Amino acid sequence: MSDLHNLLEKAYRTNDLTKKEITYLLENHSDVDREVLYAYALKTKQKYYGNKVYLRGLIEFSNICRQDCLYCGIRASNTKVERYRLSPEGILACCDQGYRLGYRTFVLQSGEDLWYTKEILVELLQAIRKSYPEVAITLSIGERRTETYQSLFAVGADRFLMRHETASQELYEKLHPTMQFEDRRACLSALKEIGYQVGAGFMVGLPGQTSADLAEDLRYLKEFHPDMIGIGPFIPHSETPLRAEKGGTIEATLVMVALARLLIPDSLIPATTALGTLHPQGREFALQAGANVVMPIITPVSVRKQYALYENKIGGDDQPEDCRYRLESWIQAAGFDVDLGRGDSRQFVAW
Ligand code: SAH
Repeated sequence: MSDLHNLLEKAYRTNDLTKKEITYLLENHSDVDREVLYAYALKTKQKYYGNKVYLRGLIEFSNICRQDCLYCGIRASNTKVERYRLSPEGILACCDQGYRLGYRTFVLQSGEDLWYTKEILVELLQAIRKSYPEVAITLSIGERRTETYQSLFAVGADRFLMRHETASQELYEKLHPTMQFEDRRACLSALKEIGYQVGAGFMVGLPGQTSADLAEDLRYLKEFHPDMIGIGPFIPHSETPLRAEKGGTIEATLVMVALARLLIPDSLIPATTALGTLHPQGREFALQAGANVVMPIITPVSVRKQYALYENKIGGDDQPEDCRYRLESWIQAAGFDVDLGRGDSRQFVAW
């Protein structure tokens, strides 16, 4: 057995690798090694979650953002993007449609839009909870005060997605002129402490990102042990300072997804929209490499194109209904079973 195969076997058996081992693996693997890695990741997923793929209805409720992340198409400095904000009633209408389509997790994502104050969010969450007592509500609204996170949890938010974006402090600071590396991590820790199921994660193929940086991303996740892990390729947007950069590849991203499955085996890992944007079968490949969640977009079609974190995002013109049935058919064709339940993480719920 080659040393690469030994390392992969060790990762499968122990769910652990050092930073040095991960870096070595990232820099020296062959196409065949990659297939072995994906097979181990798939087996690990099956051990923890069976063949199930969980669906989440994603509502992108505002593209207004006070931050200025260099990679992001809805950064504050982009004057070309047409801004929108759904009203609380508009969000409830999306939930209603999502519920009728069978979704039992709603993910409410937005730019950092402070029009949505703590009070408005509390009222919105109460209304969602009242109409749909059994659903899981996930927020992805960026950095707020701990006290705000507490109030939102108290009225029924269950989960919170906040990617750490990159574990390299130097790279983080270059990419986030309006944000602090420590703040992001402090938010993630606070969310976990409060009792949310927390999602962290990162982008692959950021300018200047090294294999050691990516190894550090996985080590950080291993230590933080989030419930959810979002990993997607960086896709350059033409109205950002990173327009001329190369971006992440599908292979590099799949390798990170598979390693995340091996190192944090009980996590929920989405096959991200960004992967689906790079390749028509990108999300299917991710499911074969250890991912177990798909997040169909249920944002109203009238504003959907404006939530352009990157360009050519898939699903722009789909009606939510089309989306739901098309999803189900390709997921089944890939050999998995759609599960429309809440789909809590195994770390959170003793099964
Ligand atoms: N404001 C929220 C939601 C961010 S958008 C927050 O701060 O958490 C969700 C994710 O999209 C980001 O965390 C980032 O990882 C990803 N993203 C943004 N721009 C991108 C790009 N150009 N290519 C790929 N992913 C991108």
